[in-house]
Amino acid sequence: MKDSFAGSFTQQEPIPDEAIAAAVAVMRSGRLHRYNLAPGEAGEVALLEQEFAAFTGARYCLAVASGGYAIATALRALGVGPGDRVLTNAFTLAPVPGAIAGLGAEPVLVETTEALVIDLDDLRRKIAASGARVLLLSHMRGHICDMEALTGLCDAAGVRVVEDCAHTMGARWNGVASGRHGAIGCYSTQTYKHLNSGEGGLLISDDAEAMARAVLLSGSYMLYDRHRAAPPPEAFERIRLEVPNISGRMDNLRAAILRVQLRSLPERCVAWNARYRVIEQGLRNLPGLRLIDRPEAEEFVGSSFQFLLPGWAPEAVRRVVAGCAARGVELKWFGAPEPVGYTSRYDSWRYCRGPELPRTDAVLAGLLDMRLPLTFSVQDCALVARIIAQEVRAAHDAAGREPAGAARG
Ligand SMILES: *Cc1c(COP(=O)(O)O)cnc(C)c1O
Repeated sequence: MKDSFAGSFTQQEPIPDEAIAAAVAVMRSGRLHRYNLAPGEAGEVALLEQEFAAFTGARYCLAVASGGYAIATALRALGVGPGDRVLTNAFTLAPVPGAIAGLGAEPVLVETTEALVIDLDDLRRKIAASGARVLLLSHMRGHICDMEALTGLCDAAGVRVVEDCAHTMGARWNGVASGRHGAIGCYSTQTYKHLNSGEGGLLISDDAEAMARAVLLSGSYMLYDRHRAAPPPEAFERIRLEVPNISGRMDNLRAAILRVQLRSLPERCVAWNARYRVIEQGLRNLPGLRLIDRPEAEEFVGSSFQFLLPGWAPEAVRRVVAGCAARGVELKWFGAPEPVGYTSRYDSWRYCRGPELPRTDAVLAGLLDMRLPLTFSVQDCALVARIIAQEVRAAHDAAGREPAGAARG
């Protein structure tokens, strides 16, 4: 009998007891709004901002209502407005182009490499062709491109970079925290990311003017002096009556549970990577399967796993997905023609106009993805890898026997 897996790919760990106690204390106080403070009280949101700034090494930090809100606010803070073009990865999730479209701006999608990162040659071409002044760089699924090459290219062209770090909180490139290479770094604390407050987001930056704008945009009124990781009051003086209030603050309840979780984030990143490496090891040297290269400079957080079945016919990929699903292993296929769950493809975002992206199409056609929640043990991951390996082998062999569906891995 074939073995199968019973774990849930969407089950995160429970909120720690200490975080629950901190949340209860906020509720007992009745002061859930970030600016509702007792005399001498800093408030959970301001403390979270201070602690997250210290964690990443950034000068300033702002906590907001969601990751998508963080991205939109970062773009607005850099002056993006209606009709502006904003470069972004074609391989990303829907809230990324959505944040651009939500400003009335126009996403310009950039090709994807086999390492699942932005294609720098295509980026260079599209900077020149589009005249865009901002790149929204998505570290999709935790894969970080050559950040020295990217920032060199963007600096030379006068393009400012907003980093979408929804999948790289806790990651580094050459020792520098992800989110610290561009002008502003954005994070999500939504349930499926590295910290869990249900919904939530964070921005970091060293740019005093941009962050003063972001604080005002988030709905600070004239209470910005209650922040502890915001620019000094001078940064607000000139702009405070010009920047619209687009309410999207974080509340003390969420911040309270995030502060406790942030303390154990480094250990949790180690736990994710132990699981990632077990899957990677289990899928090595399989016919037709290509693992994603992880560069030495990239200290990633393996909270999800991707692999490629390059050149496989769609029927053969479907056979792998169905075979794994029947045994409890949920693989998401980014090459499926219709968007399912979170696997939205760039061509299903009809509000993004633009040329075909053949390189991205070829990558997505063979791209499979799964989450690795920390509720899986290392042994669970070994079983998951064994199931995938058996199903890939079976589909590869079957395709070899059926000339029409041959897998050309
Ligand atoms: C989740 C996610 C976001 C948006 O975060 P929300 O908090 O859900 O708004 C942005 N980019 C990527 C790549 C994401 O996965």
